[in-house]
Amino acid sequence: MPHKTFVTHLECSYTGETYEADRVHGLSREGKPLLVRYDLAALGAGLDRETLSARSGGLWKYLELLPVRSEENIISLGEELTPLVDLPDFQAGPGRLMVKDEGRLPTGSFKARGLALAVSMAKELGIKSVAMPTNGNAGAALAAYASRAGIESWVFCPDDTPEINVRETALQGARVWRVNGLINDCGRLVGEGCEEMGWFDFSTLKEPYRIEGKKTMGLELAEQLGWQLPDVILYPTGGGTGLIGMWKAFAELRELGWIGEKLPRMVAVQSSGCAPMVRAFEAGLEHAEPWEDAATVAAGIRVPAAVGDFLILRAVRESGGFAVAVDDERIIEARDRAAADSGFLMCPEGAATLAAYLQEVESGRIRPDESAVLFNCATGLKYPMPSAEERLDCRAALDVEALRGR
Ligand SMILES: *Cc1c(COP(=O)(O)O)cnc(C)c1O
Repeated sequence: MPHKTFVTHLECSYTGETYEADRVHGLSREGKPLLVRYDLAALGAGLDRETLSARSGGLWKYLELLPVRSEENIISLGEELTPLVDLPDFQAGPGRLMVKDEGRLPTGSFKARGLALAVSMAKELGIKSVAMPTNGNAGAALAAYASRAGIESWVFCPDDTPEINVRETALQGARVWRVNGLINDCGRLVGEGCEEMGWFDFSTLKEPYRIEGKKTMGLELAEQLGWQLPDVILYPTGGGTGLIGMWKAFAELRELGWIGEKLPRMVAVQSSGCAPMVRAFEAGLEHAEPWEDAATVAAGIRVPAAVGDFLILRAVRESGGFAVAVDDERIIEARDRAAADSGFLMCPEGAATLAAYLQEVESGRIRPDESAVLFNCATGLKYPMPSAEERLDCRAALDVEALRGR
């Protein structure tokens, strides 16, 4: 069923050069990500916040703000609105501390948002085979949505990617390969194979529509908070799709007049074992140098070089935010404390945002009276957990001494 769509064109995020909509595009001629542009005046004339809020469901309710032209091309696995969960145990003061729990999405991570859109658009544009490098969750989401769309998918991941990611990706129908390198090495292999294998390159930001999917985090957040954005957003930043997408969402919402002038400070959170954005932010650079020997427990943010680096840095600076690194020990400590004290099992990347919040409240860059939103980007169930090995012998009487002795 056709619905009213408002895409006017695509635009190079670096030069502003325009590109025709409804065509297959990768990067711009400049080698930079393309952004989708909409006729927001026309959109706003026919849609208001109340109509939107009356709709139920997750990201597809924002259809007018998304690029899919024909509803029959929508590939959905039942995306739900993800909840904002308070974390009062960690709240530093009167300002509300919330986590947007993205682990509830299909395939257990927010990669579902980006890939739902990217695969739907691939279907709309007639693409038959796609390939991507991944640290795990993107590959799994691609596999699921591509299989559902009848599109062939090829996935290349570092050989130390969390095991569950590799297996779920294979089980959901992708051809998955373990590579003895990092995600940028996998990306090079994808690039090399495109011509001969007939793949379309689905690398982060090398196709224009994943940003549009991740943008829905910003749309949901605004709507959930009564169109009043929080003071600070802490985002675990790898390729930066989500941070860039949310910043784009806020710009569109502001142009529509649906939110006020005040926007959140965007904080890019990285691990100190892989912090190219933090280094570039602190050096005042527009682009980030690749990070050597990247290593962190937070696999999803182990991205040594990002094609959208300047967009991440631009959003962080325009918003008055900052980029910050946290140590792996503090990430794991935050994960363990959130689980034990608040009953909230976070993924390491999500826990990195909690660790960063605590660290920056201490440093004073975040005030205790400010409202802050963290992102738990994947279900904590996908990651290795500490073992629990206490055992009882059921052939004997209950060993109360052993229970008490723990
Ligand atoms: C992909 C991923 C990230 C990073 O997201 P970007 O938007 O690509 O920066 C963070 N955490 C998890 C769990 C991820 O899968």
